[in-house]
Amino acid sequence: MSSLHVEGVCKSFGGLEVLKDVTLTAEGGKVTAVIGPNGAGKSTLANIVSGLIPADRGRVLLDDIDLSGLPAYRRARLGVGRTFQSLQLFSGLTVRENVALGGYRHHFGGRHGRRRAAHQATDAAITRLGLDVLAGREVDALGFGQAKLVEPARVLAMEPKVLVMDEPAAGLGGDGVSTLGPWITGQAEAGVAVILIEHNMRLVMGIADQIYVLDHGILIAEGPPDVVRRHPAVLEAYLGHDSEDDR
Ligand code: ADP
Ligand code: MG
Repeated sequence: MSSLHVEGVCKSFGGLEVLKDVTLTAEGGKVTAVIGPNGAGKSTLANIVSGLIPADRGRVLLDDIDLSGLPAYRRARLGVGRTFQSLQLFSGLTVRENVALGGYRHHFGGRHGRRRAAHQATDAAITRLGLDVLAGREVDALGFGQAKLVEPARVLAMEPKVLVMDEPAAGLGGDGVSTLGPWITGQAEAGVAVILIEHNMRLVMGIADQIYVLDHGILIAEGPPDVVRRHPAVLEAYLGHDSEDDR
C-alpha cells in the first residue's frame, strides 16, 4: 500500500495566504478526511496534491517519490486519482466513454494486453457504481445524482493508489450518499489512500479513520472522529461567532 504525504505546503493567491504550512499524511487502507469551513483552502490543497497548481513551498510525496515538480498527468500515471467538487464530465460522450477515459492509465505502452486491462477496468467500474443500464447514454441526459457517480467510476477505472475526492457528496440525495459511503470505504479496504474532502459531517464521522481540520489555511486539529468532534478549536471554527466577518 502507498501513502501520500503533504509536507509544509504553503500557497498564496496574490496577497491572500490560502495554505499555511500544511502537513498531513494519508495512509493506504485508510480514509483520511479534510474538513473545514468554505474558503478554508480544501480545494486548493486537492489541486496541489493532484498537480493542477504548484505549491509555493513544501512538498507532496507518494511514498518516497517527490511529486512536487510533476504535472497532473504524470501524477495520475503514478496513481494519484481525483474527483472534482464541480462535475468534470465530457459533454456529448456516453457514461462508458467518460469512464473509459479513467482507464487510460493502462494504455501507456499501448500493448494489446494493456488495452484489454483498460476495458476490463472500465466495465468493472461501471458495474461497481451501478451504472450498467446507463452506460450507453450521453452524460448530458443524466440526472445530477446519476452524473455525480460517473466521476467515482472514472477514477476507479484508473485503479488509483491515492484517491482525492473533493466534496463527492455535495448535491447527492440520501440514496446517493448511501451508495457513495460504502464505495469509499471499499476503496480504502482495497488499499487505496483515500483523501475525502467533505462537508457532509455524517458521512465524514461515519467513515473517516483520521480527520484533519483546516481553517483559514491552517490545520487546527487532527485525530480520529471522536477526538475531532469534541475539539474546542473545531467547535469554534464551525460554531464560532460570525466567523467569516470578524477575521
Ligand atoms: P475551500 O475548498 O475550502 O472552500 P478553496 O481552496 O476553494 O477553499 O479557496 C480558498 C481561498 O482561496 C478562497 O478565499 C478562494 O477565494 C481563494 N482562491 C482559490 N482559488 C483561487 C485562485 N485560482 N485565484 C485566487 N484566489 C483563489
Ligand atoms: Mg472547495
